[in-house]
Amino acid sequence: MENQIDTQMEQRKGRRLVLFPLPFQGHINPMLLLATILHSKGFSITIIHTNFNSLNPSNFPNFTFHSIQDGILESEASSKDVLALAKLLNTKCVEPFRDCMVKLLSDVSEETISCLISDAFFYFTQAVADSLRLPRVVLRTGGLSSFVVFDAFPLLRERGYFPIQDSQLEEPVAELPPLKVKDLPVMDNVDPDSFYEIIAGMVNESKASSGIIWNSFEELEQSELDTLRQEFPNPIFPIGPFHKYYLTSSSSSLLAQDQSSISWLDKQAPKSVIYASFGSLAALSEAQFLEIAWGLANSNQPFLWVVRPGLVRGSEWLEPLPSGFLETLNGRAHIIKWAPQLEVLAHPAVGAFWTHSGWNSTLESICEGVPMICMPCFTDQKVNAKYVSQVWKVGLQLENGSDRLEIERCIRRLMVEKEGEEIRDRISKLKEKAKFCLQQGGSSLQNLDSLVSHISKLESFVFHSQ
Ligand code: UDP
Repeated sequence: MENQIDTQMEQRKGRRLVLFPLPFQGHINPMLLLATILHSKGFSITIIHTNFNSLNPSNFPNFTFHSIQDGILESEASSKDVLALAKLLNTKCVEPFRDCMVKLLSDVSEETISCLISDAFFYFTQAVADSLRLPRVVLRTGGLSSFVVFDAFPLLRERGYFPIQDSQLEEPVAELPPLKVKDLPVMDNVDPDSFYEIIAGMVNESKASSGIIWNSFEELEQSELDTLRQEFPNPIFPIGPFHKYYLTSSSSSLLAQDQSSISWLDKQAPKSVIYASFGSLAALSEAQFLEIAWGLANSNQPFLWVVRPGLVRGSEWLEPLPSGFLETLNGRAHIIKWAPQLEVLAHPAVGAFWTHSGWNSTLESICEGVPMICMPCFTDQKVNAKYVSQVWKVGLQLENGSDRLEIERCIRRLMVEKEGEEIRDRISKLKEKAKFCLQQGGSSLQNLDSLVSHISKLESFVFHSQ
C-alpha cells in the first residue's frame, strides 16, 4: 500500500498545477489552502495573482508566484463596489492572464502543466484555457446550497422573481424550499442585469469546466450535491473543510491579524464570549453600527469585535461610537481591526459567533462547534444564513437586520436559554461530522483521491493533444 502511494506521488512529480485566485480575502484563503493540499499530493504549484490585493509569496516558499498587471485603477480598487470590481477584473485581466499562461506553457521545459484551477468568479479564464487547449478546473469558494440557487436564476427570472419586489419578501420560493424571496442571493443597490450577467458567467463557465471543487463536505450538503451531480455534466468534488487538513501556520491574510485577541480571550470564562465579525467586504451604515454596538453592550456578555477599517461607510474606524462607550464596559469588550479568526473560533472562551454568514466563516464556525448569530448582507450570505438557522439549525438569524433590542434578545436566546443549548448540541454533532470526513475512509478524503486521479487523466489528454 505504502509503495503504491510512493509510486503515485513519484508519477505526479513533474506535474504542475496553475492556480488563479480571485483577489478577495474569502477567495484567496481557500485557494491557497487548496494549493497546500494538492502540493502534499505531489503536484508542483504555480499561483498567478493580480497586483490588486497582491499576495506575499514569502509566506509560501514551496510555490512559484507570478504577478499580473491587472490595470485596476486606485479609484476602482477603493470604490467598494465589489460587483463592479469583479466585472472589471474579468475584462482587464484577459490579456495579461493569457500572456502569462502562454509564457508558462512555453517556459516549463521539464514539467507538464496538468490544468488550470481558477476561481469560479474568474469566468473569463474558460475561454483562455480553451484557446490554449488547457483543461480548466474550477474552485467554487461558496457552498453548494447557494450554487443550486444561482443555477436556478434563469428559471427564477422566467417565473418573475426578479427584480425582487419588496411586497413579496416573505413569500416562499416554491422551487427552492425552505427559501423565501428575501433569502434569494441578490445584491441590493446594484443593477440587477449586471449582477445576473456575472452570476450567469460564473455558473455557465463552471459547467463548461473539467470539474468543480468545493470547500464543503458531503454530509453537510448531501441533497444539493445530489441535485448538482444530476444536473451538471462535469464531475464535482466536495473535499472540504480545507483548513482542517493540516495545522499550517502559513497565512494568506491580507490584513495583519491582531494577536491581542487571544491573550484577551485567555482571561475570559469558557463559552462566555461573543465573537462578532462581518468578514472582509461587508459595509454598514453608521446607524446599523451603533445598533450593533448597543446590542452588544446591553447583552451583558463579554465580546470580541472586529471592526475592520472601512466597515462603517464614511468612517475611518471607531469614530461613530459615543465617547466613553468602551470605558463604561469595564474590560468586557475588546475591539480590534482584524482577528486570527481560526484561532479565535477554536478558543474555549468563545460561545457564539455573530457573523455576516460568509461561506468561510460559516464553515469555520461549524468546524469548531460554535453556534452562530447570522446577519447576512448580500449574495450567498443570505442562503448560508437560512441554512444555518432553518436547515442545520445551528444558529439564529436576525430578522430585522440590526435592531438593538432584537440583538439583545437573540444573544440571550443563544447564550442563556434552553434553545441555545439545543443549538449548541446540534453544532457539536455537525462538528464531529466535519471531522469524520477528513479521517481515513471519510467522504472528503475519498473525493480528494478522485480529484487527484481526475486531474491525472486530464494530463494525458493534454499530453496527447499537443
Ligand atoms: N477572517 C480573518 N479575520 C477576521 C475576519 C475574517 O482572518 O477578522 C478570515 C476568515 O477566517 C475567513 C475570511 O477571512 O477565512 C472571510 O471569508 P468569508 O467567506 O467568511 O467572508 P468574506 O470576507 O468573503 O465576505
